[in-house]
Amino acid sequence: MITKDSGYIMQLQNMSVNDGEGIRTNIFLAGCPMQCPWCSNPEGQTLINPMTRLTTTAEVMKFIKKQLLFYRYSGGGVTFSGGEATQQVEFLRSLTTACYDQGISMAIETCGAFDFTLVKDILAKMDTIFMDIKHMDPDKHKYWTGYELKTILENLCAVDKLSGNLVVRMPLIVGVNADEENLVATLNFLHTNLRKPQIEFLPYHTYGEEKYRQLGKNLPSTNFRTPTESEQHLAEALACTLGVEVVSYR
Ligand code: SF4
Repeated sequence: MITKDSGYIMQLQNMSVNDGEGIRTNIFLAGCPMQCPWCSNPEGQTLINPMTRLTTTAEVMKFIKKQLLFYRYSGGGVTFSGGEATQQVEFLRSLTTACYDQGISMAIETCGAFDFTLVKDILAKMDTIFMDIKHMDPDKHKYWTGYELKTILENLCAVDKLSGNLVVRMPLIVGVNADEENLVATLNFLHTNLRKPQIEFLPYHTYGEEKYRQLGKNLPSTNFRTPTESEQHLAEALACTLGVEVVSYR
């Protein structure tokens, strides 16, 4: 049974170095309101499936506390990921309160699909917020993710007013969003609206395919392609030209 101190996770992953500063523990919370067909964590798209399990704040904190020395000496901490971590808002609040009380540095990866008024107190505790933008065309955004772009952009601007470090993450997928028109629209929006515009491009990959097979789902379209090195460089050069800093946690 779900209580405010329990919820569904896909995985607890120690020694992560890609989603924030230092050595981190990633907590992958299940459930996501988007249904991106390129998703590398398809088991996170639903709350309950053969690859998720119910856990409690106490169990997660027991796991996390064994890593405190690594966090302290590397400047690391905990990153909440998914799925979309804010989907289980009470469980996330319970986890973040427990980490905060222990003085653990926190980061979150979010697709931005949330009610800001419900999660503002949680996001305000984050040292770093990684937030996705997947497409700048409202119709294409809705087509690919099933979610309204307007909410994502409003939430991005609201999150920018919080004190944490905000990094926009963009999955770079040739065949979806890696064209120059979309890149320029995305970068212009960030430059115009964010206090310190930063972007991390995440090239599309197919590492999650085995999970699709395990879940009995259709594999992502073969029309999606990883950008070549020169396509990635073009995106980075556009960002520099349009006043958006390119960062990398990979
Ligand atoms: S928002 Fe992220 S976790 Fe959710 S479906 Fe899209 S890629 Fe997957």
